[in-house]
Amino acid sequence: MGWDSLYPQLLAAGVSDARVLEAMASIPRESFLAPHQYGEAYTDRALPIACGQTISQPIVVGLMTQALMLTGQEKVLEVGTGSGYQAAILSRLCRRLYSLERHRDLHTTATARFQDLRLRNITTLLGDGWRGWPEQGPFDRIIVTAAADEIPQTLTEQLTVGGIMVIPVGEQYQDQQMLRIYRSEQGFHVEELFPVRFVPMVRGLATGGRY
Ligand code: SAH
Repeated sequence: MGWDSLYPQLLAAGVSDARVLEAMASIPRESFLAPHQYGEAYTDRALPIACGQTISQPIVVGLMTQALMLTGQEKVLEVGTGSGYQAAILSRLCRRLYSLERHRDLHTTATARFQDLRLRNITTLLGDGWRGWPEQGPFDRIIVTAAADEIPQTLTEQLTVGGIMVIPVGEQYQDQQMLRIYRSEQGFHVEELFPVRFVPMVRGLATGGRY
């Protein structure tokens, strides 16, 4: 089982943007999994990774990436590096990706993977997504890959005018909606995209330490 089995599922789910499909085809999902999981790499399932977290479902990765409407010129912030799979795909579609993760293990492992795969336009940081990355902002796009219990205002403030944020928002493990938020001169416009289930966006670093 490989990309050929995933591709028709992505199309059927509405991932139709040729550039997104091309980027997904170019990133081997097994590179972000443990060897015993390789057999499941091309099934449309979220799978466990270290620190009690999950690598997202390929269809959700495809739909979120497509919803960002990237042209290749953007400066993008990702909250929740996790395995690094979503980041690797984004890196093929934007100018530079900044990715934050609150677990040191995940941050370190993903950073090494980006080096191995020679994805040189990704900058990673052990940090808290609730704070964002003001030193690098503002961002043309922000993608959050953990579910927030409310729209984080610190993040919307780090969006450029004309910018787009894609974020799952809702209660822990239930009733979450993928939202797309546009920032215009007039303010913010929120659109509901589809229901999802994500691990929670937790406040602070996992170690509790300062950074
Ligand atoms: N994009 C990842 C998805 C990982 S799951 C992938 O493709 O594999 C979501 C990740 O968000 C987890 O690794 C979790 O530790 C991280 N996370 C949760 N809350 C966070 C926060 N406040 N700041 C940074 N990362 C956070």
